[in-house]
Amino acid sequence: MAPKFKKIVIPAGGQRITIKNKKLSIPNKPIIPVIEGDGIGRDIMKATRIVLDAAVKKAYKGRKKIAWMDVYAGENAFKLYKEWIPQETFDAIKYYYVALKGPLTTPIGGGFRSLNVTLRQVLNLYACVRPVRFFKGVPSPVKAPEKMDVCIFRENTEDVYSGIEWKKGTKDAKKVINWINKNMKKNIRLDSGIGIKPISVKATKDLVRKAIQYAIEHKLKSVTLMHKGNIMKYTEGAFRDWGYQLAAKEFPIRTITEDQLWDKYKGKQPKNKIVIKDRIADSMFQQILTRTDEYDVIATPNLNGDYMSDAAAAQVGGLGMAPGANMADFIGLFEATHGTAPKYADKNMVNPGSLILSGVMMLEYLGWDKAATMIVKAVEKTIIKKTVTYDLHRMMKGAKKLSTSKYAEAIISNMK
Ligand code: NAP
Repeated sequence: MAPKFKKIVIPAGGQRITIKNKKLSIPNKPIIPVIEGDGIGRDIMKATRIVLDAAVKKAYKGRKKIAWMDVYAGENAFKLYKEWIPQETFDAIKYYYVALKGPLTTPIGGGFRSLNVTLRQVLNLYACVRPVRFFKGVPSPVKAPEKMDVCIFRENTEDVYSGIEWKKGTKDAKKVINWINKNMKKNIRLDSGIGIKPISVKATKDLVRKAIQYAIEHKLKSVTLMHKGNIMKYTEGAFRDWGYQLAAKEFPIRTITEDQLWDKYKGKQPKNKIVIKDRIADSMFQQILTRTDEYDVIATPNLNGDYMSDAAAAQVGGLGMAPGANMADFIGLFEATHGTAPKYADKNMVNPGSLILSGVMMLEYLGWDKAATMIVKAVEKTIIKKTVTYDLHRMMKGAKKLSTSKYAEAIISNMK
């Protein structure tokens, strides 16, 4: 049943995305909830919406259109509801499945670890998906940035991010240490802080399944399980083992392991098969620099994924252009990867690239590839013409500096 909203206004003529045969069924005018975001969110969301609307209009000649539906979180929610994220925002995203989000400030003393973490936990968005690719013309610190085209699937709900921690010297920390030392015959120093790292079969398999499905849909050659299983055998090592098990059980026709590639196929990868491989985390950081083009999809636990997403983004020119999504089985919350950069708020200055490209991911998720490709090409063209926002301008010789809104207009004028 459709939720009843107090403040959210359902756009007239919009239609709900539904699920048919375990797949999203996308109408021509899908209702997409949108969280504008705090700080620079206001500027980049405006720019993103006009770019997405222009591409959809141009690609489908008016047959398709996004029916944006404002939902509230952060400062605008607090003004309206006296709550940082009202229940109806969760209800709207759950009911309409696909949403776009700007960055949110974590309110001090709001009783939250972070609004973003709360959204992920309440909606069980277990996969953080970060495609990282190079845009011609963007300054990069490496020799061949164009070799990077990887999608990182970071587990989003557990690992050392579960918040199971005890501060050094507290009663609880001492209790845990004494219990482990006594009952498990270990020797943890009493002046230690303690943190727990749970990694479960369920979360691992949900994540790896999503990563393999993505590789199949995008016709990619490999999925790499990145882990530190040589040291943390029963968490990171188990992640690797469960990942291989899932691939063999749920995708037996479409996947082979690296061993099978050599033993059975003499190193020649059959066209319709994805190679599942694994790499130890430290080696993976080397490989992504030295053998960048050998990696398509990386599936990894939470902390490794956090490090790897930013390291990979740095190779192609930093976070300013890095898109992302937090996903469950069907829900996709597409969002900028940077924060609210308060010092630039409402100055119409920052780069909307991260949110625009998250919007591109969203269009691809809807199956609106024509509009998505149109935007990617237009962004590329805009950068090649050296018309960029301040962040890229300061690194590019001879570039012209544009405001956020002018940059969005430039992208639209470069659409074909
Ligand atoms: P930040 O907002 O990402 O900003 C850090 C710096 O990154 C900025 O000063 C700016 O660098 C650059 N930057 C960020 N976005 C940019 C853009 N669109 N265009 C150009 N440059 C950009 O990080 P923060 O200052 O640590 O965090 C501020 C607030 O954001 C905090 O409340 C934090 O909790 C929140 N946050 C939210 C999210 C989220 O909603 N997903 C994520 C991270 C942080 P220069 O000054 O060098 O130009």
